[in-house]
Amino acid sequence: VIVPNTYEVIIVGASLAGSSLALRLARRGVSVAVFDKAKFPRRKACGEGVSSIGVRLLKELGITPGSTELPANLLDGYVLCRGRRKVEVPFIEQDSCSDSGYGIQRLVLDSLIIKRATAAGVRFELGTSVRSVTRSAEGGWIVEAAGQIVHGKTLVLADGANSIVAESLGIHSEVKTDPRFGFSMVLEGQSASPISRVHILVHDTFEIACTPVSPTLLNTTIMAPRSSIADSLEPAQLQSILSAVREQTGFIGAVCEDERAPLGIGPLNRSRRGGFHDGVFLVGDACETLDPIGGMGMTHALVSAALAEKSLWSHLRQSQDIFEAGRSYEAKRESEMRALRGFTRLTYFYLRKMSHTSLFPALGNSALIREVSRAAHRNIAPSVLGFCCNLLLNVVGFL
Ligand SMILES: Cc1cc2nc3c(=O)[nH]c(=O)nc-3n(C[C@H](O)[C@H](O)[C@H](O)COP(=O)(O)OP(=O)(O)OC[C@H]3O[C@@H](n4cnc5c(N)ncnc54)[C@H](O)[C@@H]3O)c2cc1C
Repeated sequence: VIVPNTYEVIIVGASLAGSSLALRLARRGVSVAVFDKAKFPRRKACGEGVSSIGVRLLKELGITPGSTELPANLLDGYVLCRGRRKVEVPFIEQDSCSDSGYGIQRLVLDSLIIKRATAAGVRFELGTSVRSVTRSAEGGWIVEAAGQIVHGKTLVLADGANSIVAESLGIHSEVKTDPRFGFSMVLEGQSASPISRVHILVHDTFEIACTPVSPTLLNTTIMAPRSSIADSLEPAQLQSILSAVREQTGFIGAVCEDERAPLGIGPLNRSRRGGFHDGVFLVGDACETLDPIGGMGMTHALVSAALAEKSLWSHLRQSQDIFEAGRSYEAKRESEMRALRGFTRLTYFYLRKMSHTSLFPALGNSALIREVSRAAHRNIAPSVLGFCCNLLLNVVGFL
C-alpha cells in the first residue's frame, strides 16, 4: 500500500549539504522530500571558495565549475597578507593534473544543485520553515509543514549551524570558540592580472578574505569579534576595506548593488553536534561547523552528504540496521574530517598568532606550510614530509 506523502528520506535544509544528499539519493532511486525556509535562488553569506576536494565531489554530481551553467574562477592557493608582509601558499602543484579549487557564487551553485535534484525526482518545499518533527508510532518521522503532513522513513537534518530542529530533538551543539561576526559582499571591477588565489588580509582584530568568483567579481568577506564590528558597515569602514583590498590584491572594484551588497552574518562559532543521534542523521553545518577562515565548510557539507548517502542506502536497500548505518556514517565522517578540521585550526592559529611575529614570513615561506596546505587538499606526492604533514593534520584535528 502506498501512503500518500510518504518518502524514504525527509531532509530539512536545501543548501549545499541537503540538496547534494537529495540529488545523490534520488539518482539511486530513493524517494526524497526536502524542506527549506528560504526560496532559491537566495544569497548566503560565505567566502565562496570551494576546495579541490569539494570540486571533485561536485563533479561526481555532474556539476562542473567553470561551465556555462556554473561560472567560476580557478583557485590554486592562498596569499596571506599582513601589512607589507605576504606569504604565498599554493595548494596545487604547478604540474599537477588533479582538480583545482574554485571561487563560485552560492547564489548560482545552490540553485543549480536544487534544479538537478528536482529533475532527478526530489520533491522540494521551499519557503517552508520546519519548526519541529515528531516520531511516528511505526518508528518513522512526521513533518507538518506547507499545510500538509509528510511522512518519512528516515530523517536528515541539513538546516545549518543553528538547527532549531536538532535543538527541539534534544541534539545540542558543543560550542568551541568566541563568536565572530561578519559581512559578505561581492565587488565588481577588474584587476591588471588574473587573480587565482584567495587573499586573506589579517589585521589586529579582523580578517578580510578575498575570493575571485569570476574575472570581474571578487567575494569580500570580513570577520571580526562583536566588539569591533557593528550591525552595518559605515561608509568610511567600507572605503577603508576597499582600499585595503585594492592594495593587497590589485583588484579595483565597487560593491555590487542588489543581491551582492553587504550581507551581515553571525555569531559564527566552531561547533559540533556529531553526525548521528538516535536514528537521526545530521550533515553539513548542522553536524559540525569549522572556522570560516580555513575555507573547508562547503567541503565538509559535500563530504558528509556523500558519506550519509552510502549509509542511508545500506539501511534502506540492504536492510542494515539504522543504528549500525548511522554509527558507520559517523565513524567515516570523523576520519575524513580530522585533516580538514586540523587544517582549519592550524590556519586560524597561524593567522591569529604567527602573523604578529617575525616567524610569519620565515615559517610561511618554508616548505612546511605549503606541504601542510597540499596535504589538506590531498595534493601531495607520497613522501616522508607528506606523511608527516598528514599525520600533523590528523593529530590536530583529533585533539
Ligand atoms: C562568513 C562565512 C564565510 C564562509 N566562507 C567559506 C568559504 O570560503 N569556503 C567554504 O567552504 N565554506 C565557507 N563557509 C562555510 C559554508 O558557508 C558552510 O559550511 C556551508 O554553507 C554549510 O552548508 P550547509 O548546507 O550545511 O548549511 P547552510 O548553507 O547553512 O544551509 C542551511 C539551510 O537550512 C535552511 N534552514 C535552516 N533552518 C530551517 C528550518 N527550520 N526549516 C527549513 N529550513 C531551514 C536554511 O534556509 C539554509 O538554506 C563560510 C561561512 C561563513 C558564515
